[in-house]
Amino acid sequence: MDTEADVVVIGAGTVGASIGYGLAGLGRRVAVLDGGDRDFRAAVANFGLVWEQGKGVDVPGYRILTREAITCWPEFCSALQDETGIDLHYDRTGGLMISMSEAEFERSSRMQARLRDQLGEEMPPWEMLDRAALEAKLPKVKLGKDVIGASFGHDDGHVNPLRLLAALHAGIVKRGGVLRGGATVTSIRSNGTGGTLVEYAGGRILAGRVVIAAGLGTKALAAQVGLDIPIRAQRGQILVTERIEPFLPFPMSGMRQTREGSVLIGLTHEEVGLDTATTTAAAAVLSANALRRIPGLREVKLVRQWAGLRVMTPDGHPIYAESDSHPGVFVALCHSGITLAAAHAGMFARSMAEGRLPAALDVFHHRRFHVSQAA
Ligand SMILES: Cc1cc2nc3c(=O)[nH]c(=O)nc-3n(C[C@H](O)[C@H](O)[C@H](O)COP(=O)(O)OP(=O)(O)OC[C@H]3O[C@@H](n4cnc5c(N)ncnc54)[C@H](O)[C@@H]3O)c2cc1C
Repeated sequence: MDTEADVVVIGAGTVGASIGYGLAGLGRRVAVLDGGDRDFRAAVANFGLVWEQGKGVDVPGYRILTREAITCWPEFCSALQDETGIDLHYDRTGGLMISMSEAEFERSSRMQARLRDQLGEEMPPWEMLDRAALEAKLPKVKLGKDVIGASFGHDDGHVNPLRLLAALHAGIVKRGGVLRGGATVTSIRSNGTGGTLVEYAGGRILAGRVVIAAGLGTKALAAQVGLDIPIRAQRGQILVTERIEPFLPFPMSGMRQTREGSVLIGLTHEEVGLDTATTTAAAAVLSANALRRIPGLREVKLVRQWAGLRVMTPDGHPIYAESDSHPGVFVALCHSGITLAAAHAGMFARSMAEGRLPAALDVFHHRRFHVSQAA
Protein backbone atom coordinates (compact mmCIF):
# COMPACT_ATOMS: atom_id res chain seq x y z
CA MET A 1 0.00 0.00 0.00
CA ASP A 2 1.36 3.45 -0.90
CA THR A 3 0.14 6.45 1.09
CA GLU A 4 1.45 9.90 1.86
CA ALA A 5 1.84 11.88 5.06
CA ASP A 6 3.22 15.29 5.94
CA VAL A 7 5.05 13.68 8.85
CA VAL A 8 5.67 10.04 9.73
CA VAL A 9 6.52 9.44 13.38
CA ILE A 10 8.24 6.10 14.02
CA GLY A 11 7.40 4.76 17.49
CA ALA A 12 4.17 5.20 19.46
CA GLY A 13 5.68 5.15 22.96
CA THR A 14 5.09 8.27 25.04
CA VAL A 15 7.66 10.29 23.06
CA GLY A 16 6.42 9.41 19.56
CA ALA A 17 2.75 9.49 20.56
CA SER A 18 3.13 12.96 22.15
CA ILE A 19 4.78 14.32 19.03
CA GLY A 20 2.18 12.67 16.78
CA TYR A 21 -0.68 14.00 18.91
CA GLY A 22 0.75 17.53 18.77
CA LEU A 23 1.29 17.39 15.01
CA ALA A 24 -2.23 16.10 14.37
CA GLY A 25 -3.55 19.05 16.37
CA LEU A 26 -1.69 21.42 14.04
CA GLY A 27 -3.60 20.05 11.07
CA ARG A 28 -0.69 18.04 9.68
CA ARG A 29 -1.37 14.70 8.01
CA VAL A 30 0.49 12.51 10.45
CA ALA A 31 1.05 8.75 10.51
CA VAL A 32 2.45 7.16 13.67
CA LEU A 33 3.92 3.70 13.11
CA ASP A 34 4.55 1.42 16.08
CA GLY A 35 6.46 -1.85 16.27
CA GLY A 36 5.63 -5.40 17.33
CA ASP A 37 4.39 -7.00 20.55
CA ARG A 38 7.85 -8.04 21.69
CA ASP A 39 9.44 -4.58 21.48
CA PHE A 40 10.83 -2.90 24.58
CA ARG A 41 8.40 -0.26 25.81
CA ALA A 42 9.47 2.17 28.53
CA ALA A 43 6.08 3.85 28.04
CA VAL A 44 4.32 1.01 29.87
CA ALA A 45 6.97 0.24 32.51
CA ASN A 46 7.77 3.57 34.13
CA PHE A 47 7.16 5.32 37.45
CA GLY A 48 4.89 8.12 36.23
CA LEU A 49 6.59 11.15 37.79
CA VAL A 50 6.13 14.53 36.12
CA TRP A 51 9.21 15.94 37.75
CA GLU A 52 11.36 19.03 37.64
CA GLN A 53 13.26 18.91 40.91
CA GLY A 54 16.98 18.32 40.59
CA LYS A 55 16.98 18.55 36.79
CA GLY A 56 19.20 20.86 34.82
CA VAL A 57 21.44 22.28 37.53
CA ASP A 58 24.45 23.61 35.53
CA VAL A 59 22.71 22.51 32.28
CA PRO A 60 20.55 25.49 31.30
CA GLY A 61 19.16 23.88 28.12
CA TYR A 62 17.73 20.92 30.05
CA ARG A 63 16.37 23.16 32.77
CA ILE A 64 14.58 25.36 30.23
CA LEU A 65 13.14 22.35 28.40
CA THR A 66 11.92 20.73 31.62
CA ARG A 67 10.40 24.02 32.83
CA GLU A 68 8.61 24.40 29.51
CA ALA A 69 7.14 20.91 29.92
CA ILE A 70 6.15 21.43 33.56
CA THR A 71 4.52 24.77 32.75
CA CYS A 72 2.53 23.28 29.85
CA TRP A 73 1.47 20.05 31.63
CA PRO A 74 -1.82 21.27 33.19
CA GLU A 75 -3.15 22.65 29.90
CA PHE A 76 -1.85 19.69 27.89
CA CYS A 77 -3.54 17.33 30.36
CA SER A 78 -6.91 19.15 30.30
CA ALA A 79 -6.98 19.25 26.49
CA LEU A 80 -6.10 15.57 26.20
CA GLN A 81 -8.70 14.58 28.81
CA ASP A 82 -11.40 16.71 27.18
CA GLU A 83 -10.69 15.31 23.73
CA THR A 84 -10.52 11.66 24.73
CA GLY A 85 -12.63 11.35 27.88
CA ILE A 86 -9.71 9.55 29.56
CA ASP A 87 -8.77 10.79 33.04
CA LEU A 88 -4.96 10.76 33.22
CA HIS A 89 -4.89 10.76 37.03
CA TYR A 90 -2.49 13.69 36.88
CA ASP A 91 -1.93 15.33 40.27
CA ARG A 92 0.30 18.37 40.53
CA THR A 93 0.59 18.25 44.28
CA GLY A 94 4.26 19.04 44.63
CA GLY A 95 6.86 16.35 45.19
CA LEU A 96 9.39 15.37 47.85
CA MET A 97 13.01 14.28 47.65
CA ILE A 98 13.61 12.72 51.05
CA SER A 99 16.99 13.16 52.78
CA MET A 100 18.13 10.15 54.81
CA SER A 101 21.23 11.82 56.28
CA GLU A 102 22.52 15.28 57.15
CA ALA A 103 24.89 14.97 54.18
CA GLU A 104 22.01 14.34 51.78
CA PHE A 105 20.07 17.26 53.22
CA GLU A 106 23.13 19.51 52.81
CA ARG A 107 23.59 18.33 49.21
CA SER A 108 19.97 19.16 48.35
CA SER A 109 20.25 22.59 50.00
CA ARG A 110 23.46 23.34 48.11
CA MET A 111 21.84 22.26 44.84
CA GLN A 112 18.96 24.66 45.45
CA ALA A 113 21.32 27.48 46.35
CA ARG A 114 23.30 26.89 43.14
CA LEU A 115 20.13 26.94 41.12
CA ARG A 116 18.98 30.12 42.83
CA ASP A 117 22.33 31.74 41.89
CA GLN A 118 21.87 30.63 38.29
CA LEU A 119 18.22 31.60 37.98
CA GLY A 120 17.50 34.47 40.34
CA GLU A 121 13.82 35.35 39.96
CA GLU A 122 13.28 32.46 37.57
CA MET A 123 13.89 29.97 40.38
CA PRO A 124 11.24 27.24 40.28
CA PRO A 125 9.24 27.05 43.51
CA TRP A 126 11.27 24.74 45.74
CA GLU A 127 11.95 24.75 49.45
CA MET A 128 13.85 22.72 52.02
CA LEU A 129 11.75 21.15 54.78
CA ASP A 130 13.28 20.02 58.06
CA ARG A 131 11.85 16.94 59.71
CA ALA A 132 9.20 18.85 61.65
CA ALA A 133 7.99 20.67 58.53
CA LEU A 134 7.94 17.38 56.63
CA GLU A 135 5.91 15.69 59.36
CA ALA A 136 3.42 18.55 59.22
CA LYS A 137 2.97 17.94 55.49
CA LEU A 138 2.46 14.20 55.98
CA PRO A 139 -0.02 13.89 58.87
CA LYS A 140 -0.88 10.24 58.10
CA VAL A 141 2.75 9.11 57.84
CA LYS A 142 5.05 8.00 60.66
CA LEU A 143 8.50 8.66 59.26
CA GLY A 144 11.48 6.38 59.92
CA LYS A 145 13.98 7.61 62.51
CA ASP A 146 16.69 8.30 59.88
CA VAL A 147 14.59 10.76 57.87
CA ILE A 148 16.19 14.19 58.23
CA GLY A 149 13.92 16.26 56.01
CA ALA A 150 13.22 16.78 52.32
CA SER A 151 13.36 19.13 49.44
CA PHE A 152 9.88 20.05 48.14
CA GLY A 153 9.24 21.01 44.53
CA HIS A 154 5.88 22.77 44.38
CA ASP A 155 5.23 22.06 40.69
CA ASP A 156 6.18 18.37 40.70
CA GLY A 157 3.51 15.73 40.34
CA HIS A 158 2.58 12.34 38.98
CA VAL A 159 0.34 10.73 36.40
CA ASN A 160 -0.88 7.28 35.44
CA PRO A 161 1.45 6.56 32.50
CA LEU A 162 -0.78 3.85 31.00
CA ARG A 163 -3.72 6.26 30.91
CA LEU A 164 -1.46 8.91 29.41
CA LEU A 165 -0.38 6.57 26.62
CA ALA A 166 -3.92 5.36 25.92
CA ALA A 167 -5.14 8.97 25.75
CA LEU A 168 -2.35 10.02 23.40
CA HIS A 169 -3.17 7.13 21.07
CA ALA A 170 -6.88 7.99 21.16
CA GLY A 171 -6.06 11.68 20.69
CA ILE A 172 -3.98 11.05 17.57
CA VAL A 173 -6.90 9.24 15.95
CA LYS A 174 -9.51 11.80 17.13
CA ARG A 175 -7.43 14.56 15.63
CA GLY A 176 -7.45 12.77 12.26
CA GLY A 177 -4.02 11.14 12.45
CA VAL A 178 -3.22 7.55 11.55
CA LEU A 179 -1.88 5.15 14.18
CA ARG A 180 -0.65 1.72 13.07
CA GLY A 181 0.48 -1.03 15.41
CA GLY A 182 2.52 -4.03 14.26
CA ALA A 183 4.12 -1.70 11.70
CA THR A 184 7.82 -2.24 12.35
CA VAL A 185 9.79 0.10 10.11
CA THR A 186 12.51 -1.63 8.13
CA SER A 187 13.77 1.08 5.79
CA ILE A 188 13.99 4.88 5.60
CA ARG A 189 15.34 6.32 2.36
CA SER A 190 15.15 9.37 0.20
CA ASN A 191 12.79 9.16 -2.82
CA GLY A 192 15.14 11.45 -4.76
CA THR A 193 12.67 14.35 -5.06
CA GLY A 194 12.69 15.77 -1.54
CA GLY A 195 10.48 13.17 0.16
CA THR A 196 11.36 10.18 2.31
CA LEU A 197 10.06 6.68 1.73
CA VAL A 198 9.34 4.76 4.92
CA GLU A 199 8.86 1.01 4.53
CA TYR A 200 7.26 -0.99 7.30
CA ALA A 201 5.78 -4.42 7.87
CA GLY A 202 2.62 -4.20 5.78
CA GLY A 203 3.21 -1.15 3.64
CA ARG A 204 5.10 2.00 2.85
CA ILE A 205 4.48 5.72 3.16
CA LEU A 206 5.92 8.71 1.36
CA ALA A 207 6.67 11.32 4.02
CA GLY A 208 7.45 15.01 3.84
CA ARG A 209 9.28 14.58 7.13
CA VAL A 210 10.14 11.73 9.47
CA VAL A 211 10.65 11.72 13.24
CA ILE A 212 12.38 8.64 14.61
CA ALA A 213 11.12 8.29 18.21
CA ALA A 214 11.49 4.55 18.54
CA GLY A 215 13.07 4.33 22.00
CA LEU A 216 15.70 1.60 22.04
CA GLY A 217 14.85 0.87 18.38
CA THR A 218 16.10 4.34 17.42
CA LYS A 219 19.79 3.48 17.07
CA ALA A 220 19.32 1.00 14.21
CA LEU A 221 16.84 3.21 12.33
CA ALA A 222 18.92 6.37 12.76
CA ALA A 223 22.00 4.59 11.38
CA GLN A 224 20.12 4.26 8.05
CA VAL A 225 20.14 8.05 7.72
CA GLY A 226 23.73 8.55 8.87
CA LEU A 227 23.00 9.39 12.52
CA ASP A 228 25.17 7.62 15.08
CA ILE A 229 23.06 7.78 18.24
CA PRO A 230 24.75 6.65 21.47
CA ILE A 231 22.05 5.06 23.62
CA ARG A 232 21.95 2.15 26.00
CA ALA A 233 19.28 0.36 27.99
CA GLN A 234 19.25 0.85 31.75
CA ARG A 235 17.00 -1.39 33.80
CA GLY A 236 14.70 0.00 36.49
CA GLN A 237 12.69 -2.25 38.80
CA ILE A 238 9.53 -1.23 40.65
CA LEU A 239 7.49 -2.88 43.41
CA VAL A 240 3.71 -2.51 43.75
CA THR A 241 1.73 -2.97 46.96
CA GLU A 242 -1.89 -3.91 47.50
CA ARG A 243 -4.37 -1.01 47.49
CA ILE A 244 -4.58 0.81 50.79
CA GLU A 245 -6.33 3.91 52.13
CA PRO A 246 -4.84 7.18 50.81
CA PHE A 247 -2.02 8.24 53.17
CA LEU A 248 0.67 9.74 50.94
CA PRO A 249 -0.48 13.10 49.52
CA PHE A 250 2.72 13.76 47.53
CA PRO A 251 4.87 11.64 45.24
CA MET A 252 8.42 11.21 46.50
CA SER A 253 11.59 10.28 44.72
CA GLY A 254 11.16 6.49 44.76
CA MET A 255 7.64 6.21 46.21
CA ARG A 256 4.15 7.29 45.23
CA GLN A 257 0.59 6.27 45.94
CA THR A 258 -1.68 5.94 42.92
CA ARG A 259 -5.28 7.13 42.85
CA GLU A 260 -6.34 3.48 43.15
CA GLY A 261 -4.37 3.21 46.40
CA SER A 262 -1.37 1.07 45.40
CA VAL A 263 2.02 2.25 46.54
CA LEU A 264 4.72 2.13 43.85
CA ILE A 265 8.23 1.68 45.23
CA GLY A 266 11.28 2.21 43.09
CA LEU A 267 13.70 2.44 41.47
CA THR A 268 16.85 0.57 40.54
CA HIS A 269 19.43 1.78 38.02
CA GLU A 270 21.02 -1.35 36.58
CA GLU A 271 23.45 -1.71 33.68
CA VAL A 272 22.39 -5.17 32.48
CA GLY A 273 21.77 -4.60 28.77
CA LEU A 274 18.48 -5.74 27.27
CA ASP A 275 17.44 -7.85 30.26
CA THR A 276 13.94 -7.19 31.61
CA ALA A 277 14.04 -9.85 34.35
CA THR A 278 13.01 -8.92 37.89
CA THR A 279 15.27 -9.99 40.76
CA THR A 280 14.79 -10.80 44.43
CA ALA A 281 17.97 -8.82 45.20
CA ALA A 282 16.32 -5.66 43.85
CA ALA A 283 13.09 -6.40 45.72
CA ALA A 284 15.07 -6.72 48.97
CA VAL A 285 16.94 -3.43 48.48
CA LEU A 286 13.84 -1.48 47.40
CA SER A 287 11.77 -2.84 50.31
CA ALA A 288 14.49 -2.03 52.84
CA ASN A 289 14.80 1.55 51.51
CA ALA A 290 11.03 2.05 51.65
CA LEU A 291 10.82 0.73 55.23
CA ARG A 292 13.61 3.06 56.36
CA ARG A 293 11.46 5.94 55.18
CA ILE A 294 8.04 4.65 56.26
CA PRO A 295 8.34 1.65 58.64
CA GLY A 296 4.54 1.17 58.74
CA LEU A 297 4.67 -0.19 55.18
CA ARG A 298 5.87 -3.51 56.62
CA GLU A 299 2.17 -4.30 57.25
CA VAL A 300 1.34 -3.86 53.55
CA LYS A 301 1.52 -6.74 51.05
CA LEU A 302 3.58 -6.54 47.89
CA VAL A 303 1.54 -7.81 44.95
CA ARG A 304 3.72 -7.17 41.93
CA GLN A 305 7.19 -6.36 40.68
CA TRP A 306 8.19 -5.23 37.21
CA ALA A 307 11.25 -4.14 35.30
CA GLY A 308 11.52 -1.68 32.43
CA LEU A 309 14.41 -0.47 30.29
CA ARG A 310 15.24 3.24 30.27
CA VAL A 311 16.36 4.78 26.98
CA MET A 312 19.57 6.27 28.33
CA THR A 313 22.08 8.63 26.70
CA PRO A 314 25.66 9.00 28.02
CA ASP A 315 24.81 12.22 29.94
CA GLY A 316 21.18 11.36 30.67
CA HIS A 317 19.86 14.28 28.62
CA PRO A 318 17.70 14.05 25.50
CA ILE A 319 18.90 13.82 21.91
CA TYR A 320 17.18 15.86 19.20
CA ALA A 321 18.91 15.97 15.83
CA GLU A 322 18.34 16.18 12.08
CA SER A 323 20.15 13.98 9.59
CA ASP A 324 22.68 15.81 7.37
CA SER A 325 22.51 13.16 4.66
CA HIS A 326 18.67 12.94 4.78
CA PRO A 327 17.35 16.44 5.56
CA GLY A 328 13.85 16.25 6.98
CA VAL A 329 14.58 13.09 9.00
CA PHE A 330 14.86 13.78 12.74
CA VAL A 331 15.55 11.85 15.93
CA ALA A 332 13.83 12.49 19.29
CA LEU A 333 14.66 10.48 22.38
CA CYS A 334 14.98 10.97 26.10
CA HIS A 335 14.72 9.17 29.41
CA SER A 336 12.05 11.47 30.90
CA GLY A 337 9.35 11.08 28.30
CA ILE A 338 6.49 11.35 30.79
CA THR A 339 7.72 14.67 32.18
CA LEU A 340 8.57 15.98 28.71
CA ALA A 341 5.30 14.83 27.08
CA ALA A 342 3.78 18.32 27.22
CA ALA A 343 6.86 19.85 25.54
CA HIS A 344 6.93 17.13 22.89
CA ALA A 345 3.23 17.65 22.10
CA GLY A 346 3.71 21.44 22.12
CA MET A 347 6.97 23.11 21.28
CA PHE A 348 8.60 20.07 19.64
CA ALA A 349 5.56 19.20 17.49
CA ARG A 350 5.38 22.84 16.33
CA SER A 351 9.01 22.72 15.27
CA MET A 352 8.42 19.50 13.34
CA ALA A 353 5.43 21.09 11.60
CA GLU A 354 7.79 23.85 10.47
CA GLY A 355 10.47 21.34 9.53
CA ARG A 356 13.34 22.59 11.67
CA LEU A 357 14.61 22.19 15.17
CA PRO A 358 14.53 25.36 17.26
CA ALA A 359 17.87 26.88 18.26
CA ALA A 360 17.02 26.14 21.92
CA LEU A 361 17.38 22.43 21.18
CA ASP A 362 20.83 22.73 19.52
CA VAL A 363 22.49 21.74 22.79
CA PHE A 364 20.81 18.34 22.57
CA HIS A 365 22.46 17.32 19.28
CA HIS A 366 24.42 14.11 19.78
CA ARG A 367 27.54 15.77 18.37
CA ARG A 368 28.14 16.86 21.99
CA PHE A 369 29.30 13.30 22.74
CA HIS A 370 31.60 13.13 19.72
CA VAL A 371 33.22 16.45 20.67
CA SER A 372 33.95 15.33 24.22
CA GLN A 373 35.42 12.03 22.98
CA ALA A 374 37.77 13.90 20.62
CA ALA A 375 38.88 16.35 23.33
C1 LIG B 1 11.69 1.99 35.23
C2 LIG B 1 11.45 3.28 34.52
C3 LIG B 1 10.96 4.39 35.22
C4 LIG B 1 10.74 5.58 34.57
N1 LIG B 1 10.18 6.61 35.27
C5 LIG B 1 9.93 7.78 34.65
C6 LIG B 1 9.31 8.85 35.36
O1 LIG B 1 8.97 8.72 36.54
N2 LIG B 1 9.10 10.01 34.70
C7 LIG B 1 9.47 10.18 33.38
O2 LIG B 1 9.31 11.28 32.85
N3 LIG B 1 10.03 9.17 32.68
C8 LIG B 1 10.25 7.97 33.28
N4 LIG B 1 10.79 6.93 32.56
C9 LIG B 1 11.10 7.13 31.13
C10 LIG B 1 9.85 7.02 30.25
O3 LIG B 1 9.20 5.82 30.52
C11 LIG B 1 10.22 7.09 28.76
O4 LIG B 1 10.99 8.24 28.51
C12 LIG B 1 8.95 7.16 27.97
O5 LIG B 1 8.20 6.01 28.18
C13 LIG B 1 9.16 7.34 26.53
O6 LIG B 1 9.75 6.30 25.93
P1 LIG B 1 9.83 6.25 24.34
O7 LIG B 1 8.56 6.64 23.72
O8 LIG B 1 11.05 6.97 23.89
O9 LIG B 1 10.17 4.73 24.14
P2 LIG B 1 9.27 3.45 24.32
O10 LIG B 1 8.16 3.62 25.27
O11 LIG B 1 10.25 2.35 24.61
O12 LIG B 1 8.62 3.27 22.91
C14 LIG B 1 9.35 3.02 21.75
C15 LIG B 1 8.37 2.53 20.71
O13 LIG B 1 9.06 2.44 19.46
C16 LIG B 1 8.58 1.31 18.79
N5 LIG B 1 9.59 0.88 17.84
C17 LIG B 1 10.84 0.43 18.08
N6 LIG B 1 11.44 0.10 16.93
C18 LIG B 1 10.55 0.36 15.93
C19 LIG B 1 10.57 0.21 14.51
N7 LIG B 1 11.65 -0.26 13.88
N8 LIG B 1 9.44 0.56 13.81
C20 LIG B 1 8.34 1.03 14.44
N9 LIG B 1 8.27 1.20 15.78
C21 LIG B 1 9.37 0.85 16.51
C22 LIG B 1 8.30 0.28 19.87
O14 LIG B 1 7.35 -0.66 19.41
C23 LIG B 1 7.83 1.14 21.03
O15 LIG B 1 6.43 1.20 21.11
C24 LIG B 1 11.02 5.71 33.19
C25 LIG B 1 11.48 4.61 32.47
C26 LIG B 1 11.69 3.41 33.13
C27 LIG B 1 12.16 2.23 32.34
